[in-house]
Amino acid sequence: MSISTKLAKLGYKFTKPRLQVLNYLEKEKSLISARNLHKKIKAIDRASVYRTLNLLEKEHLVNVEIIEKEKLYCLADHPHHHIICRKCGYAEEFDCDKNEFKKFYNFSNIHHQLTLTGICNKCNTITNE
Ligand SMILES: [Zn+2]
Ligand SMILES: [Zn+2]
Ligand SMILES: [Zn+2]
Repeated sequence: MSISTKLAKLGYKFTKPRLQVLNYLEKEKSLISARNLHKKIKAIDRASVYRTLNLLEKEHLVNVEIIEKEKLYCLADHPHHHIICRKCGYAEEFDCDKNEFKKFYNFSNIHHQLTLTGICNKCNTITNE
C-alpha cells in the first residue's frame, strides 16, 4: 500500500501541502530536513511543511533520523534504516529486519528507531591527507 493510500485510509484529506510534501518524498528517495524541504517546495509556507511532517511522523508514515539535533525525513514505504556520515551527511540505506522482533513476545505494537553514523570513505580520505 502506498503512503498516500495509507494517509487516505487514516481519514486525512489531501491538502496542497500534504500532496506536495508526499510527492517530493516519493520521488526524492534520500533523507531531507524540514528546512531543506521547505526550500525545495517554495509554494508552501514553512509552518505547513512542519505541520505536514509532524503529521506524517505521528502516523509513522515517514522515517525520522536525528542528526545533530536536526530531524531528517524520508518516506516509510519499506522497512529500512540509514547509515549517515557525520562529516558530510552522505547516507546509505539498509533493510530493516522486523522478524528480529518476533522474539519479544511480551510486547506488542513495537516501534523502534535506529540511527547509525560513521565517517564515509570519502571524508576519511580527506582527513588522512
Ligand atoms: Zn530512507
Ligand atoms: Zn562523508
Ligand atoms: Zn529496524
